[in-house]
Amino acid sequence: RFDVRVKGEYKYELGELASTLNYMAQEIVRGNQIKDDFISSISHELRTPLTGIKGWSETLTSGGFDPEETKIGMQIIAKETDRLIGLVEEMLDFSKLQQNEMKLVIASVNLKEILQETMLNVWAKAEQKRIQIKLDDHTESAVMVPGDGNRLKQVFLNLVDNAIKFSTEDSWIHLDIRTQDEWAIVEVIDSGIGISEEHLRRVKDRFFQVNHQGGGTGLGLAISQQLVELHNGEMEMRSELGVGTTVNVRLPLLDELNKNDA
Ligand code: ADP
Repeated sequence: RFDVRVKGEYKYELGELASTLNYMAQEIVRGNQIKDDFISSISHELRTPLTGIKGWSETLTSGGFDPEETKIGMQIIAKETDRLIGLVEEMLDFSKLQQNEMKLVIASVNLKEILQETMLNVWAKAEQKRIQIKLDDHTESAVMVPGDGNRLKQVFLNLVDNAIKFSTEDSWIHLDIRTQDEWAIVEVIDSGIGISEEHLRRVKDRFFQVNHQGGGTGLGLAISQQLVELHNGEMEMRSELGVGTTVNVRLPLLDELNKNDA
């Protein structure tokens, strides 16, 4: 039996140390693999809109189109450019969060308004799949939290966007809002494809996508989770394959409101 002493304090059995190092090496390899997969999927994601933009700009430059055709081409270019900007912004947000450089502009935010705006924003997308989105409001007055309204809206837009992406046609999504003690609690509940237990664990890791069916960067949930945590809140995901997914977001209520309620 060989023992190893670290700074004279800790003693490891050599076999144990070897297996710990082996485990750490595997983790590093796994981390690199995840990053490699991420780079390959993000490159593909960036390339798709670029190909569309290049194709249409070359086609339109060659001339000979009537105004209606030209308009369609220009609309596609605008739409693909927006998609590209969205992807790049998501990567920038992720990197800012990683480096602790995300700055929040804190004000009093009415969470109910944020949810209503979110619903308006995704209305057309939901309509395309005939998905009904409903707000289940279990509160009697405004639900005020201290937060950055734009960033909180980004969180809920991302969650509802996922709910739509991973739901089948003619299904439903519920946004549930309630308060409990000093917390505002919002749940985004879908009846979509769900995630298996094994995949759910990995989805909670950054970058993981169960498959690439929805496109995207695989960063949305990681960004949402970190934004919620920056607001001193918590985000939790539950899911069952073939049944649906629920994301639970808890945010601390504004102090004044607590005092009024008391
Ligand atoms: P993206 O949507 O860009 O892929 P996310 O981080 O938002 O990135 O999600 C990561 C993965 O988690 C998705 O690719 C999908 O596999 C899974 N996922 C997220 N939300 C849901 C949901 N509501 N239902 C089923 N799967 C989901």
